[in-house]
Amino acid sequence: MKIRLCGQSLSELEAWMKTLGEPGYRGKQIYHWIYRRDASSIEEMTDLPGSLRQLLQQKAWVGIPRVIRRQLANDDLTVKLLLEMEDGQRVEAVLMPYSLERSRDRLTFCLSSQVGCPLGCAFCATGQAGFVRNLDAGEIVGQVLALRREVSEPGEGINIVFMGMGEPLLNYSEIIKSLNLLHAPEGIKVGYRRITVSTAGVVPGIYRLAKEGLPVNLAVSLHASNNVLRNQLVPLNRRYPLEELLPACREYFTLTRRRVTFEYILLKAVNDSIYHAEELGRLLKGMPVLVNLIPVNPTEGGFKRPSSEQIQLFIRTLRQLGMEVTLREERGGQISAACGQLRGQLEAKR
Ligand code: SAH
Ligand code: SF4
Repeated sequence: MKIRLCGQSLSELEAWMKTLGEPGYRGKQIYHWIYRRDASSIEEMTDLPGSLRQLLQQKAWVGIPRVIRRQLANDDLTVKLLLEMEDGQRVEAVLMPYSLERSRDRLTFCLSSQVGCPLGCAFCATGQAGFVRNLDAGEIVGQVLALRREVSEPGEGINIVFMGMGEPLLNYSEIIKSLNLLHAPEGIKVGYRRITVSTAGVVPGIYRLAKEGLPVNLAVSLHASNNVLRNQLVPLNRRYPLEELLPACREYFTLTRRRVTFEYILLKAVNDSIYHAEELGRLLKGMPVLVNLIPVNPTEGGFKRPSSEQIQLFIRTLRQLGMEVTLREERGGQISAACGQLRGQLEAKR
């Protein structure tokens, strides 16, 4: 069995080198090649002795996911990749020029956590296509390494959001491993505060993550202000209704002091009325939260985007109730950046 280098931690590589009779620092050299120097092959690791490189080629491979398709948005900055894993499964990963909070100097990498998703949200292309398997931590950080190759000067200041395909909190242990790899100071080195885990509301996962002691941000895909509507849009709500979800979010804030973001997809004539805005305001009253509104990217279920007047009315109503609100900028739309869409188009052709 060959070892995939992408996904190994520094201590794993050091230990492995020792088992091969090599000094431990060789592990660090390999680690730097993978996570800092963007090596795609073992041959590139020119500061390793030739004999070791030969041995490594028999025992290991780098294993960055392969780019199957690349889509650029009109802004020429947003890039969406369709990536293929070793078993031929494909996921999407997106690079956006700004963070969701719009600080312009930063890149945001949007990662997938699973191939498909078992949760079946009504508006989501990934959910409607079903679940295949979890990604492992190497396949998750491999997306960052593939995306990073798309920019000339990635710099230090990147943001990472788990808002691609899949439900991260249903792939808990590999997500935690990937968070550690993303954060590692000798490696990719992203601050935990620059990482956001997005969940459809897996309540036990929220409590567990709160207790990890990692100051990562939590985004919760709310999309509805009452259980009746949320049961339809996010079927997981039947298992973890709002009266269980919201206390979990409060606990997340209490333990991490990170403000929770609530994602709310605006669906015309479904959840976009003043009535819904007021109900949402009441639901979240007293919680230190940010509401991020996302006009739907119409793919599944025949949903439509509200008019811009209706969107502004919704925002004003929430603000009058004292909520902090942002509207997600239009950028992914033209490149099917709502998760699952690019893969969906290609699967249909295959
Ligand atoms: N499973 C997690 C994370 C991945 S989905 C979750 O649901 O939070 C990431 C985000 O993409 C979610 O907020 C989801 O609601 C949103 N999304 C899915 N389909 C969309 C669509 N058609 N238009 C706009 N946003 C969509
Ligand atoms: Fe899964 Fe998130 Fe899509 Fe819902 S929105 S089906 S939880 S990926």
